[in-house]
Amino acid sequence: MIPYGRQSINDDDIAAVVQALKGNFLTTGPLVEQFEQEIEKVVGAPCVVVSSGTAALHCAYAAIGLEPGDEIITPPITFIATQATAALMGAKIVFADIQLDTGNIDPKAVEAAITPRTKAIVAVDYAGHPADLDELRAIADKHGVYLIEDAAHAIGSSYKNRPVGSIADITTFSFYPTKNLTTAEGGAVSSIHPELLQKARRFSRQGLIRNKEEFVNRTEGAWHQEVQQFGLNYRLPDVLCALGISQLSRLSDFKVQRSKLFNGYNSHFNELEGIVVPRVRDYVSPMWHLYHMHVAPEIRESLFNFLRQSEIFVQVNYIPAYAHPVFSSIETHQGEFINSEYFYKSEISLPMYVGLQDEEFAKILITISKYFG
Ligand SMILES: *Cc1c(COP(=O)(O)O)cnc(C)c1O
Repeated sequence: MIPYGRQSINDDDIAAVVQALKGNFLTTGPLVEQFEQEIEKVVGAPCVVVSSGTAALHCAYAAIGLEPGDEIITPPITFIATQATAALMGAKIVFADIQLDTGNIDPKAVEAAITPRTKAIVAVDYAGHPADLDELRAIADKHGVYLIEDAAHAIGSSYKNRPVGSIADITTFSFYPTKNLTTAEGGAVSSIHPELLQKARRFSRQGLIRNKEEFVNRTEGAWHQEVQQFGLNYRLPDVLCALGISQLSRLSDFKVQRSKLFNGYNSHFNELEGIVVPRVRDYVSPMWHLYHMHVAPEIRESLFNFLRQSEIFVQVNYIPAYAHPVFSSIETHQGEFINSEYFYKSEISLPMYVGLQDEEFAKILITISKYFG
């Protein structure tokens, strides 16, 4: 089976992990801070590393003080984690339709979805292509709400020459094995606002305060630490930070290789009738996490099955979030999210990862050509 995505682990990555295992710290050690500093160099803003992309989103929502009854505006075409943690905090999930060409949230739909209860706009950089961040920023500023960017797909991407991570109020990343770089499980939160990042950090570290200037309770001894707001344990261990540091040093190489695959698919499919290839705005430089091709909805399932039977483990990203049974109690009106529906019904994600062999790539192209006769 050729998977749709997988990690790339080399000998340097393995050596880095082994060395960390021999060190004094398995979890909170010096590599945590080092990894955070290395990520900052890539994303252009300070960050805190956490145990998953889901944890990163939870920390982002905690940092903005999301409360029951608050609304967040999200795209339907995303992994459910974008919504899950906010919903568990009591927020109301509001959906805004996407743009058909990129799969990203449509600023016009966002504007229409704003209410006095809106707390944040949450954009997703689908497949690694940055959302329309300037337009979303303008809407967020106009209405006094936060802009959060779920960049689980997009570490290493840039928008108008600015790295993803340095644009939204808070940006979140995932280091799951199929993503652009991996720490097995892991993630990060970056923010251009030090006070928001501090809140995210504290939330990810049990809410513990160790700085005595900030204590409410000032009569205790030198052992004292205190909690003023609850947090959770979302720490990323030193051992996994070692892997992350090593992976980050390979990121620009990853980007070159992913772009090569992207361009290879595009140039092949441009000659095939019946396939729509992903569009790229000329002011972005995506780090491609997914290659999303689109076909007529009537043939999507048969092509999907044909590829799976040919041992090409394609994927569909994603079923619109509102279609999950967990959202069955919220009202979505038929025809309200026309682009999300069409995007979902026409999409197939082809294998896209560092280490995909030339023969495998050729097999994918030949199999698809064969399907289209
Ligand atoms: C993968 C992903 C997440 C969650 O990341 P995990 O590290 O798996 O928790 C969140 N949002 C999007 C868009 C993702 O693709």
